[in-house]
Amino acid sequence: MRIGLYPGSFDPITNGHVDIIKRSFGLVDKLVVGIGISATKTPVFSFEQRQRMIEAETASVAKQQGVELEVIAFDELLVDVARKQGANIILRGLRTAADYEYETQMTSMNRSMAPEIETVFLPAAPDVSFVSSTLVRQILAMGGDISPFVPRSVLEEI
Ligand code: ADP
Repeated sequence: MRIGLYPGSFDPITNGHVDIIKRSFGLVDKLVVGIGISATKTPVFSFEQRQRMIEAETASVAKQQGVELEVIAFDELLVDVARKQGANIILRGLRTAADYEYETQMTSMNRSMAPEIETVFLPAAPDVSFVSSTLVRQILAMGGDISPFVPRSVLEEI
């Protein structure tokens, strides 16, 4: 059984995340979306809101494709979460060269700690490769329209 862990802050989930999640359904039997919650960072959206927005957008597609979907919170080392969840794959999306630099460094660290877990990078779809939760939060804070960048569940939550 292939179990994938897709970690992130998802504050909020964007069309880029949705695309990665849906594409990952072709690669795994079960997908665990891990929402990183850190004691030092105050998110805009609560864990419950982030979980609800992710599930609303992706659960029915997962079911259609026969993939088990679970959305969890985590505040520990990624490889420990992966092991606890029985995940053999960590999924990450790649947007830019900056993502690549950061992600390859993190992957190498994770590999030295947990060589049995493989990291799989999915390239961002060109139409959403510029979308980030950080920019979405900034647009939201300034009263701008975020509807081109996020799924309906986020607009409904707001
Ligand atoms: P962000 O970087 O937008 O704040 P996260 O920290 O929640 O988002 O990112 C979780 C994962 O999703 C990372 O692997 C990140 O590269 C990927 N990701 C984020 N936005 C996109 C996007 N627009 N397209 C593809 N992958 C993305």
